Amino acid sequence: MTTILNSFQALAYILAALAFILALAGLSKQTSAARGNTLGIIGMAIALIAAIVVALSGAGSHALTAIGILAVAIVIGAIIGILRARSVQMTEMPQLVAMLHSFVGAAAVLVGFNSFLATPGANTAENAYHLGEVGLAVFIGAVTLTGSIVAFLKLSAKISGKPLTLPGRNAINLIALIICIALIGWLITTRGVEAGLVPLCILTVISLLLGAHLVLAIGGGDMPVVVSMLNSYSGWAAAMAGFTLGNDLLIITGALVGSSGAYLSWIMCKGMNRSFVSVILGGFGGGTTSNSGEAKDYGTHTEITAEETAALLKGAKRVVITPGYGMATAQAQFPVADLARKLQAMGIDVKFGIHPVAGRMPGHMNVLLAEAKVPYDSVYEMDEINDDFGDVDVVLVIGANDTVNPSALTEPDSPIAGMPVLRVWEAERVIAFKRKMGNAGYSGVVNPLFFNDNTDMLLGDAKGSVEAIIAAL
Ligand code: NDP
Repeated sequence: MTTILNSFQALAYILAALAFILALAGLSKQTSAARGNTLGIIGMAIALIAAIVVALSGAGSHALTAIGILAVAIVIGAIIGILRARSVQMTEMPQLVAMLHSFVGAAAVLVGFNSFLATPGANTAENAYHLGEVGLAVFIGAVTLTGSIVAFLKLSAKISGKPLTLPGRNAINLIALIICIALIGWLITTRGVEAGLVPLCILTVISLLLGAHLVLAIGGGDMPVVVSMLNSYSGWAAAMAGFTLGNDLLIITGALVGSSGAYLSWIMCKGMNRSFVSVILGGFGGGTTSNSGEAKDYGTHTEITAEETAALLKGAKRVVITPGYGMATAQAQFPVADLARKLQAMGIDVKFGIHPVAGRMPGHMNVLLAEAKVPYDSVYEMDEINDDFGDVDVVLVIGANDTVNPSALTEPDSPIAGMPVLRVWEAERVIAFKRKMGNAGYSGVVNPLFFNDNTDMLLGDAKGSVEAIIAAL
């Protein structure tokens, strides 16, 4: 029976691991993303079933209690998951992801403590190794837990998005890290529950503080990278929990999440011209501030009506739409997709240009456009379209601000200096949609684009403005 069970478990874990790897491969392209998602769900279902079967088979005479506990845990988890997933707005997605990462961190800490209490003391070399795993799981888990909670609070604007720059913050982080390593070393040498609990509890408290401080030190503009970095941390925390539990699948899954999250963060850092090391180490070298550019006077802006925009579009041959966070908040993706279809039907070449950090999470705009059934082949990444703006007649900047801000390239003192942006100003005409002048973008920087001679502002809610253009067409 044990052999059959072991074989079942090994087979299930291999299948689940394969499904997760194929899921990641699928998620790398929009056309195969839905399939990737389905494979991920299948992998998780296999993993859950296998874990439950194995847990129940080991429960012996406590099988009924185990079923009861598992049922309660699954029902509570499913209710929270379904309710949150149903009610969450697309714009709140990053907060939700941050919150979910904090659960993974909390789970790793709890698994670490549980594993320590089950087999405390370094009586054997094997157990000393085990205590090292416990220490690492608690360390990474606690950093992920508070880091994710702070990211959640910042993203949902419950606390200020400005970076907290304590004097000597880099030294504080470094000292905390060294103390944590020393505490793990101490933990490995302890014998018995009481002796081990002392370094473990101190380690937990310092790691919790370190996680909070790391993310508090990061400014608004770097938040997308932090979310994906925490995604990576949560993967490593899960992998560590897998080591303490002796669960191979958790190790594989954790490593997949950890490495793919780190790779995504690296790509995003490249996209925003941020130092990867700085972000991992918590805003090393300074985050963004939110006031630069406020005092600069870029002159006066010109406005345009929806009817005039419609007339302009009718005479255009090439149009590019660059959506941003405002399109998401206005839920304007459906009329925007309608407008694109109408223009295409009139023989106009319409493309979408997507900045890697447009909106509030990686891929935010791609998801919205897919929701509105915009064909993938008219959606271009920044690097694919940036050299073409010179040949474009009209660019519609729909609720984008930082991602089309030329000061990132021209003003070295700007908080977003060096961030690659969509060079929309190279087009013949630019129509920028926003609600009112005076509101800055996410990073708080004024955008000189809005004051250019070839830019006209279409002020008002993006959805209403686009619908008015469609009506006028
Ligand atoms: P921004 O946040 O810079 O600007 C949003 C623009 O939309 C503003 O001009 C705003 O002006 C306008 N807007 C808001 N609501 C509406 C509405 N209902 N109708 C019309 N316009 C509206 O957007 P971007 O997408 O250009 O840049 C994203 C920023 O967010 C970057 O700084 C990025 O670093 C950051 N970020 C990105 C994340 C990611 O992973 N993608 C995660 C976290 C942060 P007004 O208020 O006047 O309407």
